[in-house]
Amino acid sequence: MEARIISTYYDYLHKEFQINSKLITKVQEASTSCQPIFQQIKKIVESNQLKVLHSFQQNNIADFHLNGSTGYGYGDEGRDKLEEVYATVFKAEKALVRSQIVSGTHAIALGLMGNLKRGEELISATGRPYDTLLKVIGIHGEEGSLIQNGIKYQEIPLTAEKEIDLEQLGNSISFQTKMVIFQRSKGYEWRPSFNITQLEQAIKMVKNNFPEVICMVDNCYGEFVENQEPLEVGADLIAGSLIKNPGGGIALTGGYLAGKEDLINNAAFRLTAPGIDLEVGASLNFNRPAYQGLFLAPLIVGEALQGAVLAAKFFQLLGFAVLPQFDEPRTDIIQAIRLGSRELMLSFCHGLQKACPLEAYVKPEPALLPGYTDEVIMAGGTFIQGSSIELSADGPLRPPYNIYLQGGLSLGHIKTGILLAAEEMSKTKSV
Ligand SMILES: *Cc1c(COP(=O)(O)O)cnc(C)c1O
Repeated sequence: MEARIISTYYDYLHKEFQINSKLITKVQEASTSCQPIFQQIKKIVESNQLKVLHSFQQNNIADFHLNGSTGYGYGDEGRDKLEEVYATVFKAEKALVRSQIVSGTHAIALGLMGNLKRGEELISATGRPYDTLLKVIGIHGEEGSLIQNGIKYQEIPLTAEKEIDLEQLGNSISFQTKMVIFQRSKGYEWRPSFNITQLEQAIKMVKNNFPEVICMVDNCYGEFVENQEPLEVGADLIAGSLIKNPGGGIALTGGYLAGKEDLINNAAFRLTAPGIDLEVGASLNFNRPAYQGLFLAPLIVGEALQGAVLAAKFFQLLGFAVLPQFDEPRTDIIQAIRLGSRELMLSFCHGLQKACPLEAYVKPEPALLPGYTDEVIMAGGTFIQGSSIELSADGPLRPPYNIYLQGGLSLGHIKTGILLAAEEMSKTKSV
């Protein structure tokens, strides 16, 4: 029975999508090697699913919470309760989860701008931050940025081994330092991401020596990949995007922050205005998909993770350098693949796009995007615009031409995506 189903899938791919049988053999081989890793991922899914379920129950969520409000949004219990569920899931005193937070960058910017004042210092402990945050910080003096508003900034480069330089970090913190920010995911960098254990070690070092310093974690792409989240190991504040992991592919838009109550309140003043902070903000039709997406998030993250593991093994078998390796521990859903040329990056994205449910007929073109410094290529015909918990790939077009693959709402879809990407690549170079 199972053999027939498997061959139906591969026959279909071969006939309807013209996938070379050598690639099909490779993906079958990769899939066999990945089975033990898939089993480990399923265990994490199971425990995170229970954690999310319990958080819904502890906050007595009911059908009427799923409805939204209009206008000022006064008395929007669904909106407020959603924040309580997030706080429970992430072990926070308080959370801010809003459709008015337009992206992950905005969520992180609220945490920074709400909590840093003129003369105070921000330190990035994990080297150069994600591209879009550079303009928020204002490393080139951007209008409205932290630096332009008189906030001091220091970046602690990673060690030669691409680890957090704890010694340098400890030496760099001074009486001016108000906050240290850690980036959990590698972003567009060829390095390992920082898992919960590594974050814990670094946060403990900061807290032991400088208890007043706020430790913030950019949690983008990290939610539900491990059994613990950064607040459980000493972080004060986390932030992320609802069109990544915690939205489960269902949330329509939005961002979140979670952490210490005063830090969340300061971010809320920034989001709205002092005095009205959290009491306003119509949720419109945001609540229902945000709740359902959070409920599904552990499962969807599990699918995306299995897809990333499969992609790692498959492209390694095809001779490409990958990061992480298929059997290395993970703390985010990103799979980096070193393609080595602009041409292969374009063909990878072209092929992946052909595997998308929407706009499969489009050929992705490189473009300069708001917040990014180099031209970027992106593939992803997603239900939610720009969603990267859905199957997508992107990367800046600069040597050594690393593509970053992420998301996918089902393992089967991701498998199809990587096969179509490899097929397209084989037309430009034999792989
Ligand atoms: C995605 C991401 C962000 C924020 O990106 P948005 O596109 O603004 O949601 C920030 N940091 C990291 C590490 C990310 O992956």
